[in-house]
Amino acid sequence: MTRATVIGAGLAGCEAAWRLARRGIPVTLVEMKPDRLTPAHTSPLFAELVCSNSLKSDEITNASGLLKAEMRGLGSLILRAADASRVPAGSALAVDRERFASYITDALSAHPLVTVERREADALPDPPAIIATGPLTTDALSGALGALPGLRKLSFFDAASPIVTRESLDDARVFAAARYGHGDADYLNCPLNEREYDAFRDALLAAETAPVHGFEEGMLYEGCMPVESIAARGRLALAYGPMKPVGLTDPRTGRRPFAAVQLRAENASGALWNLVGFQTRLKWDEQRRVFGMIPGLGRAEFVRYGVMHRNAFIDAPSALNASFEVRGRPGLYIAGQLTGVEGYMPSAASGLAAGIALGESMLGRGAAVFPTYTALGALGRYVSSPNRDYQPMGIQYGIIDMPDERFRDKRGRARRVAERSLEAIRQAAAKLDIQ
Ligand SMILES: Cc1cc2nc3c(=O)[nH]c(=O)nc-3n(C[C@H](O)[C@H](O)[C@H](O)COP(=O)(O)OP(=O)(O)OC[C@H]3O[C@@H](n4cnc5c(N)ncnc54)[C@H](O)[C@@H]3O)c2cc1C
Repeated sequence: MTRATVIGAGLAGCEAAWRLARRGIPVTLVEMKPDRLTPAHTSPLFAELVCSNSLKSDEITNASGLLKAEMRGLGSLILRAADASRVPAGSALAVDRERFASYITDALSAHPLVTVERREADALPDPPAIIATGPLTTDALSGALGALPGLRKLSFFDAASPIVTRESLDDARVFAAARYGHGDADYLNCPLNEREYDAFRDALLAAETAPVHGFEEGMLYEGCMPVESIAARGRLALAYGPMKPVGLTDPRTGRRPFAAVQLRAENASGALWNLVGFQTRLKWDEQRRVFGMIPGLGRAEFVRYGVMHRNAFIDAPSALNASFEVRGRPGLYIAGQLTGVEGYMPSAASGLAAGIALGESMLGRGAAVFPTYTALGALGRYVSSPNRDYQPMGIQYGIIDMPDERFRDKRGRARRVAERSLEAIRQAAAKLDIQ
């Protein structure tokens, strides 16, 4: 059997390599870590989550939850790892990042059909191959991609949020409660009154930001907007955004706070906590000073500071078909955030779709394209449809085909969307011999 190559052992590459191996196809998985690290990666493990440890909603009536259900139906390794390393986060699927990455690294390293090569790829691989080197693809490989006829390279900026230790939080101010009042009290909340909120916002706006090469405000991704950029939009932008106090009652006052900062557990032991929605490019000492003004964080010990990076992606509609295959280059696929799908799960999903497509084509079983009323099929259509202003896209109902029927409410419609998509996935899984 011919051997396939997958470049990049991130979320997309791991999912793709696993699918190929499970289909009986030998795979070489090329990963440059730990000898060379991108500016955002720090661990030698595969499938490293570079920022938040949340994989977003796990509810089937949410587009992100639907994508997860579809991936579970197709034997996703990433979701198996996530389910095994879950930490409490209400209706969101959040993971202990070390356990999650170790699970995936171990599964792939132990698979008899997977050969891991730890080296930087600096040229396009010979087909059959999948390139999944992510938003921080190295310059040499990025240059090689740019030489593909018709392929335009684009970029945007993305920022990560800080992580603090649990023991450094002030228990007299911080209280546990469910996010938006749903589910268990999995989040820690730092309540602010109006005066504290205004002082915090003023300090945030006046704080010094770190210089980022080539950065312009217009090149930010809306879904990962730095907290200081949100603050600049207006006095209440934070209070209606990441500091929304909905569903919270401060036990000290018995009232809803004016605003609140929420923290989510980073690991199963609960020793580390992530400032939800607080991605930033403030200088590190400014993060200590300004975020230290948040009640409960006065003595916070930062184990990771927020940082911002340029994310590369390709103008996929000019280069890819709906199976993530490069047009005019049979057997060469590009998957993950490099294609302009945005976020952990859409990246992993595109790796799964590319792995399925390449595997089926190597086995001579024809193309595997999912219907566009599934979340997976909608992503394939998004990356391959003509689009003059192509921008990164996470999964949302806006790109999934909706049923023609009329519904009394949004939940009813979402349930019907899920029902029909999961039926299509069940049929696909049977055809693909996925148990
Ligand atoms: C600063 C920052 C913050 C982010 N925050 C979030 C967030 O909070 N939530 C979210 O959902 N998404 C976030 N993202 C996006 C997220 O990182 C991606 O969606 C996801 O990791 C993409 O998966 P991927 O497999 O395409 O790439 P990656 O996960 O980046 O994996 C690519 C792999 O390829 C390797 N590689 C790169 N070049 C080469 C080469 N030439 N040869 C060999 N190996 C190579 C890398 O080492 C890496 O292991 C963030 C991204 C950045 C940069």
